Amino acid sequence: MTERIGFIGLGIMGRPMARNLLKAGYPLTVWNRSRPGIDALAGEGAAEASCPREVAERTDVVITMVPDSADVEQVALGAGGIIEAGRPGLVMIDMSTISPAVTRRIASRLAEAGIEMLDAPVSGGDTGAIAGTLSIMVGGSEATLARCRPILEAMGRTITYCGPSGAGQTVKLCNQIVGGLNNLAMCEALVFAVKAGVNPRTVIEAVSGGACTSWAIQNLAPKIVERDFQPGFKVVHQQKDLRLALEEADKRSLPLPGTSLVHQLFAAVEADGLGGEGIQSLVKALEKLAGVRVE
Ligand code: NAP
Repeated sequence: MTERIGFIGLGIMGRPMARNLLKAGYPLTVWNRSRPGIDALAGEGAAEASCPREVAERTDVVITMVPDSADVEQVALGAGGIIEAGRPGLVMIDMSTISPAVTRRIASRLAEAGIEMLDAPVSGGDTGAIAGTLSIMVGGSEATLARCRPILEAMGRTITYCGPSGAGQTVKLCNQIVGGLNNLAMCEALVFAVKAGVNPRTVIEAVSGGACTSWAIQNLAPKIVERDFQPGFKVVHQQKDLRLALEEADKRSLPLPGTSLVHQLFAAVEADGLGGEGIQSLVKALEKLAGVRVE
């Protein structure tokens, strides 16, 4: 039987992910906080619901893709939330990046209403969401993942079982530590190149082809030299992820010196009112310190 899918949160990531489910032939019901997301998907064949509860009433598997822990709590447990449609067999897959501890709390509340929850945050950026090539990190029951794997395969290429509830979010925070520091390394190299009189495009070409290549140098660096700061991934969301990693580390008395530095530099970007820009804006903090512009 084809699973009926619900999708909540149709932003930069949710919209193309929902589109890929439609393309894969799943019947889809959507809800978004504001109209533009709903209109985009309704125009492409998705049905529309009036609240998260109604999405859950009409579907078998509900996916959430909203910003932060409080937002997932709201759509899952708040008034008109998914929990109000609780029944055995209903699954919620949260693909947002949120706190592992909050994830476990939501999962146990949903379980009381008969709902199974997977945490399944993603990596791959907006380009990976559009291409359906995301890396998906899954926490929760392995049996529920087995049931939902074909659904995740419509959105991603690498699906990794990470462990019990919250483990997917923990692995995603590891991913964000790597991504944040790769971004800093790339931005620092571009600023150095300009200061040293080398064309940054030459640096991008050479480094991309060697052992120090990264997603950041291949995807973000070309945007910086074009002075394109449109968001694929917003600074505010990156800051949320780094904050989550630092909070989890703090609970374990674990120093994360590199992550802290990236978080502080992004705070300077936010202080300039640029939290809605893409994460390549990290270079602007370094440009200020160095007194140069990468272009
Ligand atoms: P986004 O473009 O800002 O979209 C966020 C979506 O959540 C919008 O549809 C928004 O509704 C909705 N929303 C916000 N607050 C809500 C609330 N309280 N209740 C219900 N809906 C709410 O963000 P995004 O880039 O798609 O990111 C979504 C999640 O994916 C975040 O956890 C982010 O960290 C993660 N992520 C993003 C990327 C990336 O490259 N962008 C990559 C991997 C993971 P409106 O349309 O009404 O604003």
